Amino acid sequence: MLTAFSSHRPAVFLCLLLLSYCSSTCADWFNASEDIMGTRISVELWQQDPQLAEQAMAEVMTLMQGVNATMSPYLESSELFQLNQQAAQQPVKVSAELFSLLQKAQYFSIISDGAFDISYASVGRFYNYLSGHAASNADLEKNLSAIDYRLIKLDAEDRSVYFQHPQLAIDLGGIAKGYAVDLAIAALRKRSIASAIVSAGGDSRILGDRQGHPWVMGIRHPRQPDEYAVKLPLTNSAISTSGDYERFFLNGEQRVHHIINPATGRSVGAVQSVSILAALALDSDALSTTVFVLGVKKGLALVNRLPTIEAVIIDRQGRLHYSEGLLRAER
Ligand code: AMP
Ligand code: MG
Repeated sequence: MLTAFSSHRPAVFLCLLLLSYCSSTCADWFNASEDIMGTRISVELWQQDPQLAEQAMAEVMTLMQGVNATMSPYLESSELFQLNQQAAQQPVKVSAELFSLLQKAQYFSIISDGAFDISYASVGRFYNYLSGHAASNADLEKNLSAIDYRLIKLDAEDRSVYFQHPQLAIDLGGIAKGYAVDLAIAALRKRSIASAIVSAGGDSRILGDRQGHPWVMGIRHPRQPDEYAVKLPLTNSAISTSGDYERFFLNGEQRVHHIINPATGRSVGAVQSVSILAALALDSDALSTTVFVLGVKKGLALVNRLPTIEAVIIDRQGRLHYSEGLLRAER
């Protein structure tokens, strides 16, 4: 008996050794990506158990599908689509989720003096970037006055929304992806995942770090798709980039793209890209669109006023501009 035990001892020992070794180092990176919300969703996370990793990544995709089902401006079944159909006739009661996002959108409109305005869609819906069609002057004449966030009446008491203009339409394309990325990160944290990155197109959020190192996030060169203009080492941060190269067509020399100046109903031409760093992807997403509309001077003034928000702007000439916090960090 004793002999038998001792003959097994090395094997048992080895198993125990492997088990304790594995509990600290046999984890691995897992990743998944899918096209949802008209963009590429990707998730990468550090996990020991492959099954738990798969479940976590599947949950991220389900959450993204859920945001799309509620907030897509194209799906007739979405709450947002129905709101656009009905809210100019009478106040429409909406879900707590949509109402809260509309309140956040309103906050960014207020702090940017209307540069961020989800009612941009009153005119934005006449653009088609795939077919190269811009809103006509007649479209602008008829609909420009409907772009005004102050005409979107949010009643917190009965959670209803009313549009005070018959042509008003809204679109959450400048904020919903960031919101969805935050939802995904919250779900991963609930599963005790400590290191991950979730991206929805140009909106990413990093949870933790990359095995003791920061994630190095590249900001794309706006005119050379395979090059980076800047690289930033980041941990526990969100980063969003809005660029005039995302959805656009050329009309002669003029670049017609997807970020609309609410004052004119036309694409903004002052900058080529804006990247925002923030704790939450909702903030980085909304602010990247906002600062793109505001341009370098007003955009940096806003960012420098907001604590814990930083920006990298690439202007029309391709020159780089940094917010004060990033300039301080460089010194
Ligand atoms: P992003 O994807 O964050 O760069 O934001 C661009 C998207 O925001 C566009 O595709 C539109 O859906 C939406 N958008 C465009 N102009 C504005 C604006 N002035 N305010 C709010 N959202 C906008
Ligand atoms: Mg954005």
